[in-house]
Amino acid sequence: MTKDEERLDKTLSDRAAIVTGSTSGIGLAIARALAGSGANVVLNGFGDLKEIEKIRNSILNEFGTAVIYVPADMAQPTDIVRLIETTEETFGRIDILVNNAGVQHVAAIETFPVEKWDQILAINLSSAFHTIRRVIAGMKSRGFGRIINVASAHALVASPFKSAYVAAKHGILGLTKTVALEAAAHGVTCNAICPGYVLTPLVERQIPETAKARGISEEEVVRDVLLAAQPTAKFVLPEEVGAMAVFLCSDAAASITGIALPMDGGWTAQ
Ligand code: NAD
Repeated sequence: MTKDEERLDKTLSDRAAIVTGSTSGIGLAIARALAGSGANVVLNGFGDLKEIEKIRNSILNEFGTAVIYVPADMAQPTDIVRLIETTEETFGRIDILVNNAGVQHVAAIETFPVEKWDQILAINLSSAFHTIRRVIAGMKSRGFGRIINVASAHALVASPFKSAYVAAKHGILGLTKTVALEAAAHGVTCNAICPGYVLTPLVERQIPETAKARGISEEEVVRDVLLAAQPTAKFVLPEEVGAMAVFLCSDAAASITGIALPMDGGWTAQ
């Protein structure tokens, strides 16, 4: 087979996918996994432009699918419109939408900065409303769509000092279920993946914050807070989440909709 024939033979051949927050961590792993399955991908997120161009080129060279980068700030509804419009202009349609961009802040509620609450709600929750409302009509009219919201184990259970994050992640499950019901008869699914701890920059940054909030060392945070939550005592790998996203986008997952799928090493089974 030629490289082009190989690409067309894959599960998600020529599907057009947006992955928000895909310049790092879980979003990047999902973008790579979708491209590896044949999808054309829109990268989004912050970071050094040279580094992002390297990421874009590595996906392009490795998988041969089309990859573009659109630097929209997911806290800004006008930027989100631009992200959607640029994707439609480039690929003609959007088949797969992965709402992944997210931020965290760890502090007791009485000292939780108001601007951090507003930022977390905007990026981790409202952005998904803004993307979904713009893509859903096209998906319904074409009879195919896959929407994946990267929620968290914190969409199912709480931890202290994460009021905004836990509220936003619980909220996105409500949005997931509602969209699933509205779209179910049109070949469009909407699901939430709920990872436990994945060692990405988001988690690395919260280790010192958690140490401060709990009055313990950073080593104790990793051992007694993060990994203690997961009976596997291991971090979840970004690639595992990428592979799950590919499955949820496949035809085999056509009847899976409205779910909150834990990938948390047993955390929420306890
Ligand atoms: P990360 O910090 O590695 O990546 C976050 C991505 O979002 C980056 O690409 C960043 O540039 C982007 N981003 C941040 N703010 C943005 C904005 N305003 N507009 C556009 N992009 C923005 O973090 P991660 O751990 O990969 O997190 C990705 C998602 O997974 C988040 O929704 C997070 O809540 C969720 N999650 C993470 C974990 C974990 O343990 N790492 C666990 C469960 C859920």
